[in-house]
Amino acid sequence: MQNTYTINDVKQVINATGDIVTDAAISTLLTDSRRIGNPAGSLFFALDGRRDGHEFIADAYIAGVRNFVVNHQPDTIMPDASFLVVADVLTALQTLAAHHRKQFNLDVIGITGSNGKTIVKEWLYQLMNPEKSIVRNPKSYNSQIGVPLSVWQINETHNLGIFEAGISTPGEMDKLEAIIQPTIGVLTHMGTAHDEGFESPEEKLDEKLKLFKNCKQLIYNYEALLDHKDELQTRECFVWSRKFNLVDLYVFSETTISGKYYMRAIYKEKEIECLVPFRDEASVENAIVCWATMLAMGYSPADADDRIERLAAVSMRLELKHGINDCSIIDDSYNSDIQSLEIALNFLNQQNQHQKKTLILSDIYQSGLQLDALYKQVAQMVSAKQVDRFIGVGTFLQEYKDYFNVPQMHFYADTASLLKEMNKLHLQDETILIKGSRSFEFERISRALVQKAHETVLEINLNTLLSNLNFYKARLKPGVKIMAMVKAFSYGSGTFEVANMLQYNKVDYLAVAYTDEGIALRETGITLPIMVLNPEPLAYDKLVANKLEPAIYSFTLLDEFVKFAQEEEVMNYPVHLKIDSGMHRVGFEAFEIEPLCDLLEINPYIRVQSVYSHLVASDAEQHDLFTVQQISIFETAFKQIEDALGYPVIKHISNTSGITRWPNAHYDMVRLGIGLYGVDAAVPREESGLQPVATLKTTVSQVKKMAAAETIGYNRNGSLKADGKIATVRIGYADGYLRAFGNGVGRMLVNGTLVPTVGNITMDMCMLDVSNVEVKEGDEVIIFDEQQRIEDLATQIGTIPYEILTNISQRVKRVYFYE
Ligand SMILES: *Cc1c(COP(=O)(O)O)cnc(C)c1O
Repeated sequence: MQNTYTINDVKQVINATGDIVTDAAISTLLTDSRRIGNPAGSLFFALDGRRDGHEFIADAYIAGVRNFVVNHQPDTIMPDASFLVVADVLTALQTLAAHHRKQFNLDVIGITGSNGKTIVKEWLYQLMNPEKSIVRNPKSYNSQIGVPLSVWQINETHNLGIFEAGISTPGEMDKLEAIIQPTIGVLTHMGTAHDEGFESPEEKLDEKLKLFKNCKQLIYNYEALLDHKDELQTRECFVWSRKFNLVDLYVFSETTISGKYYMRAIYKEKEIECLVPFRDEASVENAIVCWATMLAMGYSPADADDRIERLAAVSMRLELKHGINDCSIIDDSYNSDIQSLEIALNFLNQQNQHQKKTLILSDIYQSGLQLDALYKQVAQMVSAKQVDRFIGVGTFLQEYKDYFNVPQMHFYADTASLLKEMNKLHLQDETILIKGSRSFEFERISRALVQKAHETVLEINLNTLLSNLNFYKARLKPGVKIMAMVKAFSYGSGTFEVANMLQYNKVDYLAVAYTDEGIALRETGITLPIMVLNPEPLAYDKLVANKLEPAIYSFTLLDEFVKFAQEEEVMNYPVHLKIDSGMHRVGFEAFEIEPLCDLLEINPYIRVQSVYSHLVASDAEQHDLFTVQQISIFETAFKQIEDALGYPVIKHISNTSGITRWPNAHYDMVRLGIGLYGVDAAVPREESGLQPVATLKTTVSQVKKMAAAETIGYNRNGSLKADGKIATVRIGYADGYLRAFGNGVGRMLVNGTLVPTVGNITMDMCMLDVSNVEVKEGDEVIIFDEQQRIEDLATQIGTIPYEILTNISQRVKRVYFYE
C-alpha cells in the first residue's frame, strides 16, 4: 500500500502558487538530488541546507524528476516540470507530512530525551513487532527534515507508529509535535550536558516536553521531571524510578548474573523481574524505559520479561570492512526493510573503490506492502542504484525473481544454500552490501566474507567526519573553498574511505604529502583535484600522468618542473606556490618573490592555481601578533604574484585552528586537517559540534590473579600496590601504543572504567591493572574514544594529537561506520 497524492492535492495542502503542468501521483518526497530512485513519483523539495537546494533542481530534472517545491521559479526553462512556489520550503514539507499524519487514526508513540532515543525506538519495535504492524523513523531520522520523511511512510496497514524527535534549538519541538501527533509519550534519559542551542538544561527540558502536550499517556522517570509535576497532572502518567517507591514501576534490586543484568521491581503491588542481555549503564536505562512502556501499554510482566531478555543490540550503523579477495564489505546484516535498504544502497552506490557493486539481500518481512508491490519496488530500486550483481536469499525473492533485471543474478532458498555455493560465485574485487532480515542470520555470510582481523581495530565514524566537515563549513563565508588534508593516510584514518566520503560531499580540493599518496587515491576512483605538498622531481611523470598538482616551494623545484614540462610538452599545468611567511620549513621568502614573478611572467608551461602559506600557531593566543605578521607577509606576496600573472589565483593560509580563530584569513580557500578528525585546540571540548571520529579498541587476551610481591613484564618494571589482577590486552608499541604509555602513564577503558597500564609496553601486548573492575577474556578495551580522547593520550605522554593518530600502524585494521 503506497501513498499517493496528486500534485494538485499537494498544492492545496501546502498552499502553494505556480502552474501545474504535470499529472503526477506523488509517492516519494525527495530532499537530496543524489538519491533518486523513483523520479516520476518524486516531489523534490529545494531545501536550504548548507547549500541552496535550488542549485540541485537541474540535477534532479536530468534524473527525471518533474515536480518541485521551491521558493522561487528557477531561471532555466523546464517546460514539462511543475513548480509549486511557497514562502518556505521546509515548512511546506512539514505541512504536507502533518496533513498526511492526520489521515490515519493509529496509536503513535513519540520519543524524546537527550540520549537513547534511537535505541529505545528500535527496541520498542523489536518488542512489539510480533503483534503490531509498526512504522518508525528509519535509522535516526529525527530532525526537522527526518521526521516529516519518516511520518510520510505511514500507510493503512500500520496500527502503531514509533517516532523519535530530536531538537537542537528552541521552537523546533512544536513543529515536530504537529507532524508526529503522538498519542503516547516516552521520555528517555535526560542528560545535563550543556547544549549549544539552549540557555540552560531547564530550557532544553521544557522544549522537549512540548512533544507530549497532546499525549493521552506519558511514560517517564520520576527523577527526570521532579520540577514538572504540576503540568503533568492533566494526563495519565506511568512513572518509573530506581530510588522512590511511590511510582508505577519501582526498580529496587539490580545485579549482574552471568553477564546479564537482573532487575526486580514492584509493579501493581507485586514483585516482578526482568533480565536484560546488556549490562552497560546506558543499555540498562534504555531497557527500563522499554519495560515501563510495555507495562504502560498493557503487556503482562511475563511477556515483557520474556521479550526483553531476547533484545538484540541495535546497530544503526553500516560497517565498511575489508573483505576476502580484495572485496569491500558493507555489513548491514541485522535488519532489512525498504527504507534502510534504500539508505544502504545509496552508500553502496557512493563507493568507488571497486567497479563492481554487489547486493546480497534476504526476503523482507513486515513491509506492510503486498509481496508483489514490495518486490517490484525492491527490483526498481536495485536497478536504479546500478547494482551489478544481485544475490537473493529466501523463497519470496526466488518467487519474484523475474522482476529483477541486473547483469548477474543468483537466487537461493536460504542462507545455508548460499554459503554452500559461495565459492562458485567467485566474489572478487567488488563492493558487497550484505543486507538481511534478522532471521536469515546473515552475520554468517559476513563472517565468511570479512577478512579476519587482528582484534585491534580503529573505527572511523564517517558520519561524524561529515558533521565535523559541516561544523567548519558553517564558519566559512559563502564561496570559500575547502581543501581537505588527507596526507599521511588521512591522519591515520584511511585515505580512500575518507577521501571518497569527502568527494561525495563535495569538498573542493584534497591535499596529500607525497605523489604516491595521490596516485593511490586516483587508483580508487577519486577525481577531485589533488595538491601534492612535497612533490619529488623523480616522480613528476607519475604526478602529471595522474593529474596531481604540485606545490612548488623553491626555485629548484620550479626549474625541474618547468624542464620536465618542456620535454613532455605539457602546457599550462596547474601548480601551487608556497610562501614562507614564518614557518621556515619550505617556501619562497619575501625577497624571492620578485625574481619568482619574473620567471612566472614568461612561463607558458605552468599556470598558478593557488598561492598559499602556513600558519605556525593559529591556535595559540600568545602568538597572535606573529600570526598577524604572517598574514601580512602572505598578503604582500600574493598581491605581487597576482599583479605579475595578470590573472586571479586561489589564496589560502588557514589550517583547522585558522578557520576557527582567524575568520579574516580564510581568503578563497581553507585547508582543513585535524579538525575533520574531531580535534581542534581552538574549540573548547564542552562545545558540542566537533566530535572525535576515531575509536581505537582492542580485546583482553588473558586475565591473571597477581600478588603484590610479583613483578610484571620486561625488566620487572611493573607491580601491583596490593594483591589484585591484571589483564593482558592485544596492543603494543608496534601498533602505535607507544612505550611511553607504560608503567601507569597510559590508561584504557575496561568495561567503562579507566584503568592504568602496569609494567612496560611490549611490542604486541601490554598489561593493565584491573584489580577493581569486572573483566573476562575477550572483553573489549578502549584506548581512545569520545570519553578518553586522543587529546588526553597526547597529554599523558607529552605529545600532540597529530602524533597519536598518525602513529597507529597499518597492522591495525580500519573499520568504517556510516549511519
Ligand atoms: C597538515 C597541513 C595542514 C592542516 O593542518 P591542521 O592543523 O591539521 O588543520 C594545512 N596546511 C598544510 C600545509 C599542512 O601541511
